[in-house]
Amino acid sequence: MNELHIDHYGAVIICPYNKAHVIPAARIQRHLFKCRRQYPNAKIDICCFNRAHHVPQQDLQQHQKNCPDRALIEVCKYVIDDGTASLYKPSPMDDQDPVEAVATQQYKQQDENWDDMDAQRYDPVQYCMENPVVRKTTGHMTPSEKRKFREEERIRISELNKAMESKGSTLQEAYK
Ligand SMILES: [Zn+2]
Ligand SMILES: [Zn+2]
Repeated sequence: MNELHIDHYGAVIICPYNKAHVIPAARIQRHLFKCRRQYPNAKIDICCFNRAHHVPQQDLQQHQKNCPDRALIEVCKYVIDDGTASLYKPSPMDDQDPVEAVATQQYKQQDENWDDMDAQRYDPVQYCMENPVVRKTTGHMTPSEKRKFREEERIRISELNKAMESKGSTLQEAYK
C-alpha cells in the first residue's frame, strides 16, 4: 500500500480492495475496514503490526518483514496468542472505529461473564491473559462501593490464581 502525494489534495492512499478508491491518508483506516466488508473474498490480510496496513496475502510476509511498525512485535505476538486477531470480522457497529469496537466487544463479554460465573465461555486464565492489569477503584466511588469493589476483586483474583495454579503459575500479589 503506497502513499502518494497529489497536488492540492494531500497524501492519499490507493485502496487495496479497489484501485478506483483513492482515499485521503487521514481517512484510510476507516475506509479500509468498511471496504473489507464489501470485499469479503478479497485475498487481503491485515498486517499484524498496524491494523491500517491491508496487504495482498502474497505480499504480507514481505510487508511484515519491512513494516515500519515492527517495533510493536510484542503486541503482535499477544494479539496472535490470545486469538484477538480472529475477532476482526464484520460487525454491525459501522460507525465505530474497528479497534475500539473489538475492545468494546471484549469488554462486554468479560462484563457479562463476570456477572455469570457459570457461563460456559468464562475462562479465568484467558481473562487473566487478556487483562494483565488489575483493576483499581476510581475516585468516583463511595467508600462502601470501594469496599464492595475490592471484595469482588479479591474473589476475581483468587479465581484467577486457582486457574493459574492448575497451569503451573500463580498471579502473585497482583492485588493489594
Ligand atoms: Zn476501498
Ligand atoms: Zn505493516
